[in-house]
Amino acid sequence: MDLGLRGKRALVTAASKGLGRACALALAGEGAQMVICARGVEELKQTEAEICGLGADVVAIREDVTDPAAPQRLVTATVEAFGGIDVLVGNSGGPPPGRAMDVDDAQLEEALNANLVTSIRLVRAAVPHMRAAGWGRICLITSSTVKEPIPGLALSNTARAGLWGWSKTAAADLFADGITLNLACPGLHATDRIKSLGMGADGEPIGDPEDFGKVIAFLCSEPAGFVSGTAVLIDGARTLGLL
Ligand code: NAP
Repeated sequence: MDLGLRGKRALVTAASKGLGRACALALAGEGAQMVICARGVEELKQTEAEICGLGADVVAIREDVTDPAAPQRLVTATVEAFGGIDVLVGNSGGPPPGRAMDVDDAQLEEALNANLVTSIRLVRAAVPHMRAAGWGRICLITSSTVKEPIPGLALSNTARAGLWGWSKTAAADLFADGITLNLACPGLHATDRIKSLGMGADGEPIGDPEDFGKVIAFLCSEPAGFVSGTAVLIDGARTLGLL
């Protein structure tokens, strides 16, 4: 199947490791060119080299995507490098665990900024360019907590549900402009974050980030043009809720 991504111009944030990196590599494998970002330089350079190795043009930018001005800077950099932006994969680091009654204001503000407001800022910065082109694909990486809160992850549960509400509303507004907006909702995948949280040790299903990246590449593809306003679980049937 031709995903129609050859030559498309992408921005993938938080993409030096884990799920963001896997999305960038999958898009590069389909012929997209892209800007990637992360805060640390070493792994960012490694990922940049891997993407180059696939024959894709890539610009790697050291940036903290949660800085309020970063989303606009990153979109501008993509447009300056490639002449436009067709695909946005919005990703950020995940919040720390915490029980609902234990999280304080500072933690809440940080999680809401990283996992809700940053994504909205990225979409707002990218959409004018996509509207002008009459085509766009936006996929925001969230969590299966969008569908079913996980005890002990109060910050993630709260921020992701807010992003789902905003995205569902925005997707309906954007569809007539040729722009799709979906959430990717991972269950457990073998990344450094999951290892550092000590999760996935109980025989639960663990996904391969490489496969996750390919699902996101499909959601950003030409034939996925009628898939919008969805929150797609990629979790090996771990989530039991019926919604
Ligand atoms: P990861 O392995 O820790 O990788 C995170 C990536 O994001 C790294 O490249 C990191 O590079 C970058 N990053 C983190 N904070 C950033 C920031 N403020 N600005 C720019 N780049 C930043 O994490 P992951 O497992 O791929 O998780 C990605 C997202 O998916 C998180 O929101 C996580 O909560 C969510 N998620 C993951 C899973 C899973 O199973 N892996 C499940 C549910 C939800 P630097 O540190 O160098 O910036």
